[in-house]
Amino acid sequence: MPEDISNVAMDTIVSLCKRRGFIFPSSDIYGGLESCWDYGPLGVELKRNVKEAWWKSMVQHRADIVGIDASIIMHPNVWKASGHVEGFSDPLVECKKCNLRWRTDEVEGDKCKICGSPLTEPRLFNLMFKTFMGPVENDANVVYLRPETAQGIFVNFDNVMTTIRKKLPFGIAQIGKSFRNEITTGNFIFRTREFEQMELEYFVKPGTDEKWFNYWVQERFNWYLKLGIKKEHLKLREHEKEELAHYAKGCSDINYLFPMGWAELEGIANRGDFDLKQHALHSGKGLDYFDNESNEHYTPYVIEPSSGVDRMVLAILVDSYEEEEVRGEKRVVLKINPMLAPIKVAVLPLSRNEKLVPLSQEIYDQIKPHFMTQYDDSQSIGRRYRRQDETGTPLCVTIDFDSLEDNQVTIRERDSMEQIRVPIKEVVSHLQEKLGKTLIID
Ligand code: ATP
Repeated sequence: MPEDISNVAMDTIVSLCKRRGFIFPSSDIYGGLESCWDYGPLGVELKRNVKEAWWKSMVQHRADIVGIDASIIMHPNVWKASGHVEGFSDPLVECKKCNLRWRTDEVEGDKCKICGSPLTEPRLFNLMFKTFMGPVENDANVVYLRPETAQGIFVNFDNVMTTIRKKLPFGIAQIGKSFRNEITTGNFIFRTREFEQMELEYFVKPGTDEKWFNYWVQERFNWYLKLGIKKEHLKLREHEKEELAHYAKGCSDINYLFPMGWAELEGIANRGDFDLKQHALHSGKGLDYFDNESNEHYTPYVIEPSSGVDRMVLAILVDSYEEEEVRGEKRVVLKINPMLAPIKVAVLPLSRNEKLVPLSQEIYDQIKPHFMTQYDDSQSIGRRYRRQDETGTPLCVTIDFDSLEDNQVTIRERDSMEQIRVPIKEVVSHLQEKLGKTLIID
């Protein structure tokens, strides 16, 4: 396969997602709403697993990082300090391909400065969704939906520092919704106006920032590999000087080979001390750090790995999608890491025969406290195996008429399609042994 062509078309993924209950168009019965999507029963599990894997790696397994959950609506001055109110209210043109935006006075002609693609018409544009707080719709009551989760971390820097008493370097992590009134959306859940971010702000001593920036670029790249994303589908891209925000000292993107081509999955930026300094200035509250060792006050620098939950969900679906031929028939299988798989185990009685049902229900009840489990008794067993393959379920437990005699069930493995007989009383421990290690990330 040539290096830069995805293994699957976007339409194939979109239709699988709708057919199997991963992702539906939002407000579907009203004809949908542009660029808005709803996660269905399987999509919500996949999304939860992505966030859980991130939280485990970034918070649970680290002594130097804690989490927060800040509100989406924040004091309007937050967005003045961060530059979002002013920075996005100029007439902007946007590159139709790479989505970089410029003020009209920054570009010559109608082509993108970086990739040469056409630009949109200029529009007076603020990226933030504006609304009003309270019953009166006037300027004094204007608030914004946050366009990034990061600012909720910066404004809580002092609260967190005084309560957790950590020394630098330390980080604050957050997962939550963000909203951007993007000029161009599209490519399914890749670019939407409501999306979810997983962001870390890692505070370091000035002078050590480059070392930590390189550390986080490597660490984050490896995280995708650990989750089973194929190495040849991932690429690091260092930002050119002219792409950097004026305060940023460096930025690297982790790009993924999506069906529409290489595009950003995560950005890692060295933001210097810009954010804390700006909030100190606008709030009048000191946001310095006192370093006991060197006996000095300074404003920490911050390294920010910032990734999108929805883009990760899309990358996983694309990356794990495979079509195989099995006994002359096409088999679609999502070879998804069991840790991320929406359903870990499917319990499948061979038929709805009244003798099989009570035993099958009993086995389902035994398994479901341990793993996300699905009970499925509709259609032929072959079709049910195909359905589970298509949604990435790693293991199926089948109860047949022999089970009533020999007290054993069949366990079938998704990728190899191998089947083994296991005593019913050992089913849970067997599943734990098979899945246990795969459900841990370091
Ligand atoms: P892009 O240029 O692709 O729109 P960005 O550089 O504006 O992304 P950041 O501000 O760095 O994005 O946000 C960090 C992460 O949040 C991105 O890497 C992406 O995973 C996610 N993200 C940003 N905007 C969107 C969006 N409109 N829809 C879905 N995810 C998004």
